[in-house]
Amino acid sequence: MFTFKATGRNVVQSPKHSALCVTMADVEAESSTQPEAMEEENPLFSNLDLFLFTLIAGLIIYWFMSRKKAEPIPEFKKLDQPAPSTQETSFIEKMKKTGRNIVVFYGSQTGTGEEFANRLSKDAQRYGMKGMAADPEEYDMSELSRLAEIGNSLAIFCMATYGEGDPTDNAQDFYDWLQETDGQLDGVNYTVFALGNKTYEHYNAMGAYVDKRLEELGAKRVFDLGMGDDDGNLEEDFVTWREQFWPAMCEHFGVEASGEDSSVRQYELKEHNDINMNKVYTGELGRLKSFETQKPPFDAKNPFLAPVTVNRKLNKAGDRHLMHLEVDITGSKIRYESGDHVAVYPTNDTVIVNRLGQILGVDLDSVISLNNLDEESNKKHPFPCPTTYRTALTHYLDIIHPPRTNVLYELAQYATDLKDQENMRKMASSAPEGKALYQSFVLEDNRNILAILEDLPSLRPPIDHLCELMPRLQARYYSIASSSKVHPNSIHICAVLVEYTTKTGRLTKGVATTWLKNKLVADNAHKSTVPMYIRKSQFRLPFKASNPVIMVGPGTGIAPFMGFIQERGWLKEQGKEVGETVLYCGCRHKEEDYLYQEELEEAEKTGVITKLNVAFSRDQEQKVYVQHLLRTNKVDLWRQIHTDNAHIYICGDARNMARDVQTAFYEIAEELGGMTRTQATDYIKKLMTKGRYSQDVWS
Ligand code: NAP
Repeated sequence: MFTFKATGRNVVQSPKHSALCVTMADVEAESSTQPEAMEEENPLFSNLDLFLFTLIAGLIIYWFMSRKKAEPIPEFKKLDQPAPSTQETSFIEKMKKTGRNIVVFYGSQTGTGEEFANRLSKDAQRYGMKGMAADPEEYDMSELSRLAEIGNSLAIFCMATYGEGDPTDNAQDFYDWLQETDGQLDGVNYTVFALGNKTYEHYNAMGAYVDKRLEELGAKRVFDLGMGDDDGNLEEDFVTWREQFWPAMCEHFGVEASGEDSSVRQYELKEHNDINMNKVYTGELGRLKSFETQKPPFDAKNPFLAPVTVNRKLNKAGDRHLMHLEVDITGSKIRYESGDHVAVYPTNDTVIVNRLGQILGVDLDSVISLNNLDEESNKKHPFPCPTTYRTALTHYLDIIHPPRTNVLYELAQYATDLKDQENMRKMASSAPEGKALYQSFVLEDNRNILAILEDLPSLRPPIDHLCELMPRLQARYYSIASSSKVHPNSIHICAVLVEYTTKTGRLTKGVATTWLKNKLVADNAHKSTVPMYIRKSQFRLPFKASNPVIMVGPGTGIAPFMGFIQERGWLKEQGKEVGETVLYCGCRHKEEDYLYQEELEEAEKTGVITKLNVAFSRDQEQKVYVQHLLRTNKVDLWRQIHTDNAHIYICGDARNMARDVQTAFYEIAEELGGMTRTQATDYIKKLMTKGRYSQDVWS
């Protein structure tokens, strides 16, 4: 007879592993040891036994399942956001719950759009309104139509344009929704501030699109589109727009503008005097200890620590430092394509970090948290906390770029010299005198926060407030200089060390390139590693290898073409028909900075590059640039483009080179295609739309 006791014993005695498995296994073992004859004569289980067994098994399963559910399952939680299950995706409900009437959405790639959104949402308070900054990726944007449910409501959009007129990653879904929706946005008040750079072909395309599309959908533009140009003075554009925007809003909503300038802290300081150091962030972007136990998939919040296997100087002479690095991605499951970008997270110079600690008289190794005073906010801390000031200043905060005017404004209260205080506040205003002072003292003199503290000795802010105000240190993107077909486990980077002396005589070094230069392959038997992830791009070789390609990339603009050349060589080796592969590159002196000379000459010798054109700009009296060589080869070029369907690629400086090269193509189309300038411009535009004229340019 099946005994209750037996089952009971098994359940009670079951160790940590599954109680159900132990029980069933034991029952099976018990029954299998019974002689067959006995089974026939005397059935092992009566109906009651079976009923009891089923009931008990059911209870065990129920107990097991409910116990499992009650146990918190550890999962990756983004630091700046609570886990998705607890996150409010309805911004309307959130606004209603917290009495807010203004929502400021941002499309931000490098953090500036987000910074502006935070500033605008903070401003609202000054005008008797209540705002919240919101990442469109975190909310259901189709709820926009419900905004009118909130009285005197307004949606502000700070929209950055990325790459070739693209939305930023976090605004992609919103952009797709805007394109597809035919929903009505009647009664929705909105305004847009666009962030971009005039040197790019599609200047502020995203901001302009959102502005136009919202109107088409029936929303009401309550203030004109603001245009911020990072090639000029983005901060000034924003401050000027904002100063006109708020009074107009007050008038629109009939609100009495207090305009009271007040400094409001967003985060409160918590010092941890007795904390388990295993719980303290040491530079991780997302999961705590993610640098010690690395788990794919790797992305912006979870970068892979790639060991540096090669770091060599590329130039033979000259006072610059051009470098080639290779990082190993073996075992990371990271995949890339030629033309993609590798993003790396640099760290700040320890000399500057130490100097900041010294000048502010603080122990940089104190462990702290900055906790958001707004408990409803999705962003709990400005950077991963708890951490030390040293880690925050080294890994998380941008201490090198000249600070924006809002930082100066907020810090002014700590200047004991009233003149300093006045000047700092003035710089944050839109008064011409203030703007001119900011332009000269901060921008033209290139003063970072350390230089400002050194030059204004009366200014000694508390370090926690400084850390609250500094923007986040951003990942830097490099065009990958290798092909995954040839180097599936390594990624190549080509970069030039940025170093210059400011007007105040301070030697300033580029954060990322200085850090990369110092990534020695074997560093005291330690592997030098680079936290990295891949950003996909549209810069792609033609689908049909038989199409000719024309690559134009002077200086470090050669980077993606090293990948393209490797890939065309590989395709040839596979027996594919590969079209003409023409390279236009350039450097200052042949004997000095002819990047990858050996590799390029070898590729030409083996026929992978069908024509190598190098412009040595300073080896003769008159400058020779890539565009001069393009003009020299115009007949061939026109045939390749017009008859043979060539794909054109430009990489490098956006401000001058890319523009001058484009003009050269216009001229060739005019001369050999018999076109007017307008027709030639349209012709190149069409090539762009068809993906046959692609640019990977920076300014
Ligand atoms: P570079 O060595 O300074 O320049 C490469 C070649 O391009 C030189 O022969 C240069 O000639 C020539 N050149 C200058 N103006 C030109 C124009 N309008 N059209 C065509 N060719 C021109 O190159 P680099 O060091 O790679 O830097 C290129 C540019 O990109 C620089 O402005 C640099 O600051 C910038 N850059 C930016 C980043 C970034 O991430 N933001 C990274 C790397 C480089 P001359 O110098 O003799 O006039």
